[in-house]
Amino acid sequence: MKKISHRVITGSLMLAMQSRPEAVIGAVVGSMMPDIDIKLGIAHRTWTHWWPMYAVPMFVITNMDHANAFQTYMGQEISTLLFWMCVGALLHLLEDSLTVMGIPMITPVPATEANGVPWLTRKRRFSLGITHTGGILEYLIMVIVLVVAVVVIKQNPAYQNELMAWPKMFIQSLKI
Ligand SMILES: [Zn+2]
Repeated sequence: MKKISHRVITGSLMLAMQSRPEAVIGAVVGSMMPDIDIKLGIAHRTWTHWWPMYAVPMFVITNMDHANAFQTYMGQEISTLLFWMCVGALLHLLEDSLTVMGIPMITPVPATEANGVPWLTRKRRFSLGITHTGGILEYLIMVIVLVVAVVVIKQNPAYQNELMAWPKMFIQSLKI
């Protein structure tokens, strides 16, 4: 999917779920992470599009207690943002799975690096095959999700008020 589709769909989904500001912002930032492979020159939709890359850090973060070294080191706020960034990255994978190219499920190893080991190839991918990247259906899905989010928010004045107070809330949530 295109960058704009990832940002809009992820942001809309988070807003439709009436998430807190750090969750929405973290998820939108996180939704940009998997496509960093294009910039880094890694085979597209391999390692950075493999779900354990984000599910494992999420598990580590959610299973930390206050004595955990990671949390002590990173701080509660950074841990929370990292968690929501992983949620955003996983939503990115879900969005990419709608496209024909799909995402790797079992192993992220590109076919060119599998050295002929069949189960290592990236042919074992998950795809719902609904649209091609940049296809008209991709943008249609984006618009539908956006409209649903607007309708949900319109029905909830309390959340609308919350949205207005977002800049303040976001700063508070980071305890700046
Ligand atoms: Zn992607």
